[in-house]
Amino acid sequence: MIEVQALKKSFGPTEVLKSIDFQVNKGEVIALIGPSGSGKTTLLRCLNLLETPDAGSISIGTSALTFGTDIKKADIKKIRQYSGMVFQGFHLFPHKTVLENLYTAPVALKRNSKQTLIEKSEAMLEKVGMIEHKHKYPDALSGGQQQRVAIARALVMEPEVMLFDEPTSALDPQLVRGVLKVIEGLANEGQTMVIVTHEMNFAKRVADKIIFMDEGYIVEEGNGDQVITNPQEERTKSFLSLLEEE
Ligand code: ADP
Ligand code: MG
Repeated sequence: MIEVQALKKSFGPTEVLKSIDFQVNKGEVIALIGPSGSGKTTLLRCLNLLETPDAGSISIGTSALTFGTDIKKADIKKIRQYSGMVFQGFHLFPHKTVLENLYTAPVALKRNSKQTLIEKSEAMLEKVGMIEHKHKYPDALSGGQQQRVAIARALVMEPEVMLFDEPTSALDPQLVRGVLKVIEGLANEGQTMVIVTHEMNFAKRVADKIIFMDEGYIVEEGNGDQVITNPQEERTKSFLSLLEEE
């Protein structure tokens, strides 16, 4: 469903993605792991075209883009529609209620009626266990609750793929579980997802494939047993042993 080939991205003189190839099949859950600064966020942002890659190609569904050539705005828009992104910080609008946070942007796109979008928003809040908070403002919620709202907001657009960038790393430890449970529920429903995470037990349990990135390259990939339990590459081994020491 998503195919990335020879993707490169630099910021000034820093080459952050050095030629990334990977694919995501429909219904697959991919966990992207690796040390800080290895390029995980940049890769997710490139998938969503929040960053424009310098070279390589991305095809999602029936759309394909080759970078380093002129890219049409319409093509960017089309590819963006395929994915929903959830960030480490929740980025909710502070002056809108939970429910308004979900439907405001889709209503502005005018593809569905407001009533339909409100109903869909409520269904998504139900799914993440936040329906009873729909009239509250974000600052009345815990970080875990805000993140569940942010997940629901991304789901309202019915993205083909959900992209998560360390969705639990800004949370107090006791709030992590609730958010991971929501993401695991989505995995069980067959939602295609790419998840950047440091939660190795979660990655092992939920992901079909684990990709270890370091210094702008994919170093190793495979299932949880292969990459987390029996890593083959030295860099993967040292990353995992450092995590255990934390
Ligand atoms: P990760 O998410 O794995 O920690 P990032 O993709 O955030 O890694 O960052 C990879 C590298 O790219 C880092 O060295 C970071 O400083 C650099 N970088 C990321 N975004 C920018 C940017 N907008 N401008 C300049 N450098 C950036
Ligand atoms: Mg990051």
